[in-house]
Amino acid sequence: MMFGTSGIRGIYGKDITPELALRVANAFAESDVCIGQDTRESGVPLAFAAMGGVLGSGHGGIGLGIVPTPLVAFGTMKFACGGIMVTASHNPAEYNGLKFMRKGREISRAEERRILERYGRGMEYGAGPGERRIENVIPDYMELVKKNVDAKLIGKRKPKVVVDCNGAGAVVTPYLLGELGCRVVSLNCELRGFNRPSEPNKENLSWLSSAVRACGADFGIAHDGDADRCSIVDERGELLNADVQLALMIEEELARKKGKVISSVESSLIVKETVEKNGGEFVLTPVGSVHVSEEMERSGAVFGGEPAGEYVFRGGVGVPDGVMAAAKYVELFCSDGKLSTLASKFKTNPMAREKFRTLDRVNAMERIMGTLRLDGTVNKDDGIRVDGEGYWVLVRASGTESIIRLTAEAKTKELLEKVAGKAREAIRKAV
Ligand code: MG
Repeated sequence: MMFGTSGIRGIYGKDITPELALRVANAFAESDVCIGQDTRESGVPLAFAAMGGVLGSGHGGIGLGIVPTPLVAFGTMKFACGGIMVTASHNPAEYNGLKFMRKGREISRAEERRILERYGRGMEYGAGPGERRIENVIPDYMELVKKNVDAKLIGKRKPKVVVDCNGAGAVVTPYLLGELGCRVVSLNCELRGFNRPSEPNKENLSWLSSAVRACGADFGIAHDGDADRCSIVDERGELLNADVQLALMIEEELARKKGKVISSVESSLIVKETVEKNGGEFVLTPVGSVHVSEEMERSGAVFGGEPAGEYVFRGGVGVPDGVMAAAKYVELFCSDGKLSTLASKFKTNPMAREKFRTLDRVNAMERIMGTLRLDGTVNKDDGIRVDGEGYWVLVRASGTESIIRLTAEAKTKELLEKVAGKAREAIRKAV
């Protein structure tokens, strides 16, 4: 068993089994634990097994049913307990996994090591079984979101929004937006399995794009399986560029309160420039929402987000929250107007995103660190990122797959080809 960027993940029945869920949940249970799951069918045996592991430890188990990851985080705050979310997030349907939370955020790397240690020692049983109860956290969570947006403004404007949940978001996002006064059209809101691949990217959102155009909606919202992500489609059915989408939210959050904005080493020039233009301070962390969230807590930042559509809000829970993000974009539309117009003021730069297969990504990365030569500020917190004059380059190993990723952005195509070429050469020699 291994922890990845965000909990444990793998193919159900092979890497991730009910037996593993039972044992790891038992190792995690130091107090009561609330347990949620997304709509994957394999989530049913895994959530039952995790509940068994918790109750076996002698601690109480709180069943939350099908809920998004941010609502499990909310549960850990409301009940002052640990939290387990059964999900493989944006990964395909045959995958599943477990995310662990405490005090509203994902557990630290140090706690992951502690769990591994206890997992290695085998099952531990309490004096008697813990108590199991079922709780509905959705109404209280909705109240929290409503406090963070201008409900009056939304109620007056009554935007028409198509919501493509395809997962756990189906239990809350359409209802929340409806209560706020939106005219909601729901798509893929069944509570069993997925109707489209989980990742809310362009290829997977063609139904949403068509639905937005067909309904004459103001815009569309899509989640991944556990609804910690939110992708936005404008009124023409066009998916917003992920960096532009993040920049729009940063503007909005910095207009509310000035301060630090946390993003990962994958964030683009648009994001950096938007933070600086709006009087914020830009801070980089390794890739992964747990780092963004920890740095937010440490530095008292006003907002944190990654270009994958994962945003952590100051007034909300300590994990990315695609549901609150959905409500925030509704508010943004009501106050500032058409999303296509808002997005068009950002000029995207040429970018390169490439993957390279390797058998040993750790050793390959070490060789790349030694041979990559580019001018600029070097950050080695997660892979290697070089910020130079009008460009940045990132080379890092994937957290879950046997690949090395190259990401580069530059003000001109010529400069991009030059810097990406140098990185490509260093990677090819190393893999
Ligand atoms: Mg997710």
